[in-house]
Amino acid sequence: MPGKKKFILALDEGTTSCRAVLYSLHDMRAVCSFSEPVPAVYPFGGWVEQDADDIYYRLMLCVRRIFDSAAYDPAEVAAIGLTNQREAVVIWDRKTGNALAPCIGWQCRRTAEYCEGLKKRGLGDMIKRKTGLVIDAYFSATKLKWLLDNTPGAHEKAAKGELLAGTLDSYLVYRMTGGASHITDVTNASRTMLFNINDMKWDGELLSLFGVPGCILPRVVECAGRFGEMSFGGVRIPVCGIAGDQQASLIGQACFGMGDVKCTYGTGAFILANMGSVPRITRSPLLTTVAYVIGGEKAYAFEGSVFNAGSVIGWLKDIGLLSSVAESEEVASGVEDADGVYLVPAFTGMGAPYWNMNCRASLLGMTRATTRGHIVRAGLESIALQCGEVYDLMADALGSPLGALRADGGASRNGLLLSVQADVIGAQVRRSREKESTSLGAAYLAGIGCGAIDGTDEIVRKHSFDATFEPSTDGGKTVKLKEGWKAAVRATLDAQ
Ligand code: ADP
Repeated sequence: MPGKKKFILALDEGTTSCRAVLYSLHDMRAVCSFSEPVPAVYPFGGWVEQDADDIYYRLMLCVRRIFDSAAYDPAEVAAIGLTNQREAVVIWDRKTGNALAPCIGWQCRRTAEYCEGLKKRGLGDMIKRKTGLVIDAYFSATKLKWLLDNTPGAHEKAAKGELLAGTLDSYLVYRMTGGASHITDVTNASRTMLFNINDMKWDGELLSLFGVPGCILPRVVECAGRFGEMSFGGVRIPVCGIAGDQQASLIGQACFGMGDVKCTYGTGAFILANMGSVPRITRSPLLTTVAYVIGGEKAYAFEGSVFNAGSVIGWLKDIGLLSSVAESEEVASGVEDADGVYLVPAFTGMGAPYWNMNCRASLLGMTRATTRGHIVRAGLESIALQCGEVYDLMADALGSPLGALRADGGASRNGLLLSVQADVIGAQVRRSREKESTSLGAAYLAGIGCGAIDGTDEIVRKHSFDATFEPSTDGGKTVKLKEGWKAAVRATLDAQ
């Protein structure tokens, strides 16, 4: 690595915003970052679309702002790492690189009915065995089928080799490299429901089930390597790392050992646990997904998501119980416990382990003595309790205890939340020094891909935490809290 290379550039394309973050190679701390909102349109109830060309321009705008600041020179950047919202899918023109239709977002439910039909045909077991996923409109396969069937001329263009497809990472790399690289990494591929995670290949049976010609799909690559070059200000910067957002945060949290587990507390909460190099596909509601492939070494992960996490605190603010989300910590610390109040935040249904999209939120157990503090505390506890259930499910599925839970994301700044979380799981919770483990993970991958970082061992050495939360010794209280929670969830589901 020539001496003048001082930085890694991470590009983080999220659901609501995209950002470019420059990391110093010396200590992997962020030195400069810019972000841009990424708009979405909702043409019909449950439909979510984004403009892929616009996403690319906005991401490049963030990059330009970093180098416009004059403090940094593109020639000093050793490599680019990319991370992205997963599952969203794009079709584009091979020649121009322009999207041929709006990008269908991961939240889009337009294919939900079609998915119900697949389930009725009894295809669930085959699909879970091959892909580790449950049949759902969330994953890319049915979205891509919809795009091909509903974009005029798409099938004809695909047959003539004029149309390409892929998840957003694939599209962005294609644009960044001027059409030289049509690739996707294994983690993004594993979210499409077209990729066999056992043999790490696009699956012929699934491609024909969804009517997707294999020739329009990207070549699948490892997470770190040399994937093409982006020209910026006359400088060619290699793209050397790619991973979907949740896998990138697993890497950013240095979860490279079996049983290493992380939770990203954002709007929702995403929990991933490293299960080692052999995929275990269970009948539980947990997904099995590719965690990473780096230097030929592969790892799989269990994944469980909680739909409403930080959003619960946002809601408490919106209804006027809090003046800011940060205030939740102080308000909830003012009471010893929630005094029997439970908030079951099924605003958009419940994710793992319940998978019920129809139930709605409830607030239970109030008395005339219930205060604002109790309700806010019940909101915070609901995040920890939901994540705790996923954590326990993963430990059962792995058949061995999990390690300390590594926390990141916006709501992980709330110390009380993490302290309750430690009580609920009966294990340590460790908060990552970097709030944004996702872009850090992309930067680590790019560092490995360009040779500036030796490998995962070096990431483990470099990784650090800013706080550790120990579980309480009062086990009885936690058992009561968890029992009360289960009863509250049952009541919420029954009220549906
Ligand atoms: P996303 O990437 O999903 O947009 P972020 O990681 O930026 O989310 O986290 C934002 C979420 O975290 C919001 O839902 C917000 O309500 C919540 N949040 C942020 N700070 C705190 C805090 N100090 N305490 C509790 N929740 C918080």
